[in-house]
Amino acid sequence: MLKLHIVSLFLFTLVLSSFSQDFRWQQRVEYNMDVRLDVTTHKVTGIQKLTYYNNSRDTLTKVFYHLYWNAFQPGSMMDVRSINITDPDARVGDRISKLKDDEIGYQHIQSLKQDGKDVSYKVDGTVLEVILSKPILPNGKTIFDMKFESQVPVQIRRSGRNNKEGIAYSMTQWYPKMAEYDFQGWHAYQYVGREFHSVWGDFDVKITIDPTHVIGGTGMLQNADKIGHGYEKQGSTVKQPSGDLTWHFIAKNVIDFAWASDPDFAHDRLKVPDGPELHFFYQKNEKTTPNWKKMQEYAVKHFQFMNKTFGKYPYESYSIVQGGDGGMEYPMCTLIMGEGSLTGLVGLMAHEVSHSWYQAVLASNEALYPWMDEGFTDFARQESMASMFDSPIQSSHQSSYASYFGLLSRGLQEPISQHADHYTTNLAYKVAAYAMGAIFLEQLKYIVGEENFYKGMRKYYYSWKFKHPEPNDFRRVMEKTSGMDLGWYMSYWINTNKTIDYGIKNVVESEGSTFISLERVGEFPMPVDLVITYKDGSKEMYYIPTNETLGNKPVEDKTIQRVDLDAWPWVYPTYTLNIQRKSEAIASIEIDPSQRMADVERKNNVVDFSKDLKPYSDNTK
Ligand SMILES: [Zn+2]
Repeated sequence: MLKLHIVSLFLFTLVLSSFSQDFRWQQRVEYNMDVRLDVTTHKVTGIQKLTYYNNSRDTLTKVFYHLYWNAFQPGSMMDVRSINITDPDARVGDRISKLKDDEIGYQHIQSLKQDGKDVSYKVDGTVLEVILSKPILPNGKTIFDMKFESQVPVQIRRSGRNNKEGIAYSMTQWYPKMAEYDFQGWHAYQYVGREFHSVWGDFDVKITIDPTHVIGGTGMLQNADKIGHGYEKQGSTVKQPSGDLTWHFIAKNVIDFAWASDPDFAHDRLKVPDGPELHFFYQKNEKTTPNWKKMQEYAVKHFQFMNKTFGKYPYESYSIVQGGDGGMEYPMCTLIMGEGSLTGLVGLMAHEVSHSWYQAVLASNEALYPWMDEGFTDFARQESMASMFDSPIQSSHQSSYASYFGLLSRGLQEPISQHADHYTTNLAYKVAAYAMGAIFLEQLKYIVGEENFYKGMRKYYYSWKFKHPEPNDFRRVMEKTSGMDLGWYMSYWINTNKTIDYGIKNVVESEGSTFISLERVGEFPMPVDLVITYKDGSKEMYYIPTNETLGNKPVEDKTIQRVDLDAWPWVYPTYTLNIQRKSEAIASIEIDPSQRMADVERKNNVVDFSKDLKPYSDNTK
């Protein structure tokens, strides 16, 4: 009997695991690169051995690589897009159109073989299409051997040489990179300057460079004691060789590999208690050193906050590197500008580090769902900053609401379900991805309650880490955690431009009790928290759920008595509740006092009888 049970349990598990594999397979890559960066010509030459695992159920006859640096050439799609958009990124503007031959970026393929045999390929802008000589069967693998030569562009956007603060090389999207193929097909988008999507895999990278250069970036340095530059075991000394140095990095289970180098980098290390070792690379000068020293303790605090609140950072190290042209996230590292104020620097660090959760570990397709990437990240940054600087977490998202309302008032809002590259304005993209993404979570907290929310965020992290979660995956985790249905909410917020506006229509007293009529002015339905404050100082919370949610949120604030009312079906424009007290006992009535709903008109949310009795006096008997 027991045996039979074990066998059937085994079969059942087998069925389950094969089912889940079929449902969401993901491709896998192993990069082995050996490259040399010549600091006089700014050229990278190298070889790349790429083992590609086709875990899909499809036979692949083509694969696609990204050649991102080809974007930094006059007339590229990125150039034309930047010239024609009404609100170009000031860092790009028309700068690409003015690049000279020795300033442009490029990635030239010198040879490409599949399993030892030449394959044909063609390049269109930033995309390399490879026509395979041998199809890759489902669950098959193949090896690509490539020789390439690249020119590091003058720093325009994210990558490049000699950035504004004089960092020699910001090496991001610097190698021919396999495009992702998933259940939606190929994601071989032309690069016009925005989000990325990459394949999970391992990197083994050898970088040979002038011995004065210090490298910070993704992965674990394998030959630290040969390299020195602050990587060596504390106390040991390394004699710098006169010839070029070869740095050997390994990064396991990441979606990308980035690095930066400079001869003037200081390199500090600090261990997060129960967390990774942090590495800081910054220029040794007055404009940078003092703030970078102070920023380090905030970085430790931020990692601790993130670990506790959203799930534990899974890698052994993380590097904060001065470089790039703002802040940009990569696995196990970030490149940020370094000369700003301390608060600015800490905020930037906190945002980019938070991407380790929402991008580097939960690697959603940033191009299709930038709100799951930038929005979730900024949400985490806001809460961590509030915690670090001792301000209330509840009000830490106000700036996101303000940007969203600002965009609405300018009439520039676009649905946030569209591809990141295709927004009409940079502003609409920015507000959609960052602000609306953060509000999406804060409103979700309002809908499911604080406890469910944080539990769900951690569950989401642990169940989807090292994968490419889709919006629905997030929704399902939140639904299972809260026991509520959230499809309606996601659908309205992500796919439509509809807005939320609830108001108090009137307050009428009849036979000793008070009738409060509410109206749904906006088309976007939401559950309503309504708080009544009485003249004796007591408060009551009335909770009106939506029936689409198929459940109520748990009581959030145990200090206020909550009355759960019948649901307000979304088709009804109004809703009336009855309070068993005379209206003269009421001091004020407020819809959504926690201000977590993105209610576009707050004036009609409050009736304060001590102040504005007037509009309602006619109704008050
Ligand atoms: Zn970001």
